Amino acid sequence: LRMSRLDSVIRRLTSQKLALEWAADIIRHLDGAVLELGLGNGRTYDHLREMLPDRDIYVFEREIAAHPDCIPEKSFQYLGDFRDSLPFAHQVMGANSVLAHLDIGTGEKQVSMQLAEQIAPLVLDLMKDRAIIISDQEIEGWSYMLIQPLESIPKDRIFIYQVAKK
Ligand code: SAM
Repeated sequence: LRMSRLDSVIRRLTSQKLALEWAADIIRHLDGAVLELGLGNGRTYDHLREMLPDRDIYVFEREIAAHPDCIPEKSFQYLGDFRDSLPFAHQVMGANSVLAHLDIGTGEKQVSMQLAEQIAPLVLDLMKDRAIIISDQEIEGWSYMLIQPLESIPKDRIFIYQVAKK
């Protein structure tokens, strides 16, 4: 079924919002940090912070370009390429995160998919068992952790994983 570009954008953003709100509720009673990969212009960071005002939210970004109101303090920023900043964050925090939001797509599908596969194990290293990961990219190696908790979220728009550590 063909969908206009506008409908497509609305559907993607709505799915993202629903998934983040669902995840925020799930982790509300769990101790641990929240990770935002891809600060971008700070839209989803701002939403996460609004839903989880007392939570430590760390952002990962190559180049900070968000609205000044949507930039966390320096101590909550991990700058540089994810492939460098994620291992560094692991040295600092260990596996202490209960929610990660991967919003890493740049429009080049192949590049984004490859990046997602590369960073997947690095992200997993930072997560606690049973943590939630919301991703704009499907991650093949994580298919065993894929969950679909909400009928209202179209399953090809956003991918929800629950960490199961072996
Ligand atoms: N979550 C943001 C929002 O709601 O405004 C949108 C994020 S945007 C889709 C993706 C971001 O990921 C871009 O700002 C880009 O700079 C960043 N990014 C992409 N690849 C990266 C990499 N390898 N290392 C660090 N940052 C990267």
